[in-house]
Amino acid sequence: MLDKEKIKEKLKKERDVLLEELRDIGKLNPETDEWEATPEELDFPESDQNDMADRSEDFEARSSMIKTLGPRLNNILKALKGLNRESFGKCEVCKKDIEMTRLEANPAARTCKQHLKS
Ligand SMILES: [Zn+2]
Repeated sequence: MLDKEKIKEKLKKERDVLLEELRDIGKLNPETDEWEATPEELDFPESDQNDMADRSEDFEARSSMIKTLGPRLNNILKALKGLNRESFGKCEVCKKDIEMTRLEANPAARTCKQHLKS
């Protein structure tokens, strides 16, 4: 038997952590529904050339964080939606129950271990 509640709790926790991290470094663009990095807010009004370079490096780092975290959040949101479906926890290939250990490691998993795509 699948423990959906347990998985749901785990997913919600992961979602909250990801949301917090994402809000720290970017914002959700309501038009594209995608996360975008925001430049760090400065405490001081003007900056010399070096500071500008630092800022743009910082922005690059944020952007690459967003590219990692954004899709992870989307996966979790998808998995949370999928939890309500009858087919949740069933392998897309063989339709058998996905191993609980696998779902705990990756609640968004859609295949069993045997049909795991690399
Ligand atoms: Zn399978």
